[in-house]
Amino acid sequence: MAHVVDDKCINCKHTTCVSVCPVDCFYEGENMLVINPDECIDCGVCIPECPEDAIFQTDDEDNKWFKHNSYFSNEGNWPNITEEQAPMENYVDFAKENYKEDKTKLFKAIPAVQID
Ligand code: SF4
Ligand code: SF4
Repeated sequence: MAHVVDDKCINCKHTTCVSVCPVDCFYEGENMLVINPDECIDCGVCIPECPEDAIFQTDDEDNKWFKHNSYFSNEGNWPNITEEQAPMENYVDFAKENYKEDKTKLFKAIPAVQID
Protein backbone atom coordinates (compact mmCIF):
# COMPACT_ATOMS: atom_id res chain seq x y z
CA MET A 1 0.00 0.00 0.00
CA ALA A 2 1.19 3.51 -0.74
CA HIS A 3 -0.03 7.01 -1.41
CA VAL A 4 0.47 8.51 -4.87
CA VAL A 5 -0.28 11.77 -6.72
CA ASP A 6 -2.48 12.03 -9.81
CA ASP A 7 -3.03 14.59 -12.60
CA LYS A 8 -4.89 17.04 -10.35
CA CYS A 9 -1.49 18.23 -9.06
CA ILE A 10 -0.37 19.28 -12.56
CA ASN A 11 0.26 23.03 -12.93
CA CYS A 12 -0.62 23.62 -9.24
CA LYS A 13 2.22 22.23 -7.10
CA HIS A 14 1.01 23.81 -3.86
CA THR A 15 3.63 21.69 -1.99
CA THR A 16 1.76 21.91 1.33
CA CYS A 17 1.89 18.10 1.27
CA VAL A 18 5.68 18.22 1.39
CA SER A 19 5.80 20.13 4.65
CA VAL A 20 3.96 17.40 6.59
CA CYS A 21 5.54 14.24 5.17
CA PRO A 22 7.55 12.56 7.96
CA VAL A 23 9.80 10.62 5.57
CA ASP A 24 10.40 13.24 2.83
CA CYS A 25 9.24 10.98 0.00
CA PHE A 26 8.01 13.65 -2.45
CA TYR A 27 9.88 14.30 -5.72
CA GLU A 28 9.56 17.34 -7.95
CA GLY A 29 8.97 17.59 -11.66
CA GLU A 30 8.58 20.82 -13.59
CA ASN A 31 4.81 20.92 -13.15
CA MET A 32 3.82 18.21 -10.64
CA LEU A 33 5.04 16.26 -7.62
CA VAL A 34 5.13 12.51 -7.18
CA ILE A 35 5.51 10.22 -4.16
CA ASN A 36 8.01 7.38 -4.02
CA PRO A 37 5.71 4.43 -3.19
CA ASP A 38 8.61 2.44 -1.70
CA GLU A 39 9.47 5.21 0.74
CA CYS A 40 5.90 6.23 1.69
CA ILE A 41 4.91 4.85 5.11
CA ASP A 42 1.18 5.28 4.41
CA CYS A 43 0.56 7.67 7.29
CA GLY A 44 -2.02 9.64 5.27
CA VAL A 45 -1.22 13.05 6.78
CA CYS A 46 -0.59 14.56 3.33
CA ILE A 47 -4.12 13.91 2.05
CA PRO A 48 -5.95 16.71 3.93
CA GLU A 49 -3.11 19.12 3.07
CA CYS A 50 -3.77 18.90 -0.68
CA PRO A 51 -6.29 21.52 -1.86
CA GLU A 52 -6.62 19.76 -5.23
CA ASP A 53 -7.46 16.30 -3.81
CA ALA A 54 -4.59 14.94 -5.88
CA ILE A 55 -3.29 12.33 -3.41
CA PHE A 56 -4.84 8.89 -3.01
CA GLN A 57 -3.99 5.54 -1.48
CA THR A 58 -3.67 2.40 -3.59
CA ASP A 59 -2.18 -1.08 -3.42
CA ASP A 60 -2.57 -1.62 -7.17
CA GLU A 61 0.91 -1.60 -8.67
CA ASP A 62 -0.67 -1.67 -12.14
CA ASN A 63 -2.55 1.57 -11.50
CA LYS A 64 -1.24 4.14 -14.00
CA TRP A 65 -0.57 6.74 -11.32
CA PHE A 66 1.21 4.20 -9.11
CA LYS A 67 3.49 3.42 -12.06
CA HIS A 68 3.90 7.11 -12.88
CA ASN A 69 4.87 8.00 -9.29
CA SER A 70 7.21 5.03 -9.04
CA TYR A 71 8.93 5.80 -12.34
CA PHE A 72 9.54 9.52 -11.85
CA SER A 73 10.65 9.18 -8.21
CA ASN A 74 13.19 6.53 -9.22
CA GLU A 75 14.36 6.34 -12.85
CA GLY A 76 12.98 9.77 -13.78
CA ASN A 77 15.77 11.54 -11.91
CA TRP A 78 13.39 14.00 -10.31
CA PRO A 79 14.91 15.73 -7.25
CA ASN A 80 13.64 15.13 -3.73
CA ILE A 81 11.65 18.08 -2.33
CA THR A 82 11.53 18.55 1.45
CA GLU A 83 10.37 22.12 1.99
CA GLU A 84 7.19 23.94 1.06
CA GLN A 85 7.49 26.52 -1.69
CA ALA A 86 5.16 28.89 -3.52
CA PRO A 87 2.64 27.24 -5.86
CA MET A 88 3.00 27.62 -9.61
CA GLU A 89 2.38 31.10 -10.96
CA ASN A 90 -0.94 30.40 -12.71
CA TYR A 91 -2.16 27.70 -10.34
CA VAL A 92 -5.56 29.36 -9.87
CA ASP A 93 -6.39 28.73 -13.54
CA PHE A 94 -5.72 25.01 -13.02
CA ALA A 95 -7.31 24.61 -9.58
CA LYS A 96 -10.16 22.12 -9.27
CA GLU A 97 -12.75 24.91 -9.11
CA ASN A 98 -11.65 26.31 -12.47
CA TYR A 99 -10.24 23.43 -14.50
CA LYS A 100 -12.48 20.37 -14.71
CA GLU A 101 -10.71 18.34 -17.40
CA ASP A 102 -8.16 15.60 -17.01
CA LYS A 103 -4.80 17.39 -16.84
CA THR A 104 -2.65 14.47 -17.98
CA LYS A 105 -2.08 16.07 -21.40
CA LEU A 106 -0.43 19.06 -19.68
CA PHE A 107 2.15 16.88 -17.90
CA LYS A 108 5.87 17.63 -18.40
CA ALA A 109 8.28 14.79 -17.70
CA ILE A 110 11.29 16.99 -17.03
CA PRO A 111 12.75 17.29 -13.51
CA ALA A 112 12.32 20.54 -11.60
CA VAL A 113 15.28 22.89 -11.39
CA GLN A 114 15.79 23.55 -7.69
CA ILE A 115 17.62 26.67 -6.54
CA ASP A 116 19.26 26.56 -3.11
S1 SF4 B 1 -0.55 19.66 -2.13
FE1 SF4 B 1 -1.50 18.47 -3.79
S2 SF4 B 1 -1.45 19.82 -5.59
FE2 SF4 B 1 -0.02 20.58 -4.08
S3 SF4 B 1 1.96 19.65 -4.61
FE3 SF4 B 1 1.03 18.36 -3.06
S4 SF4 B 1 -0.05 16.84 -4.28
FE4 SF4 B 1 0.38 18.52 -5.66
S1 SF4 C 1 1.16 9.13 3.22
FE1 SF4 C 1 2.63 9.92 4.75
S2 SF4 C 1 4.58 9.06 4.14
FE2 SF4 C 1 3.21 8.83 2.39
S3 SF4 C 1 3.57 10.65 1.14
FE3 SF4 C 1 1.85 11.12 2.50
S4 SF4 C 1 2.80 12.12 4.27
FE4 SF4 C 1 4.43 11.07 3.15
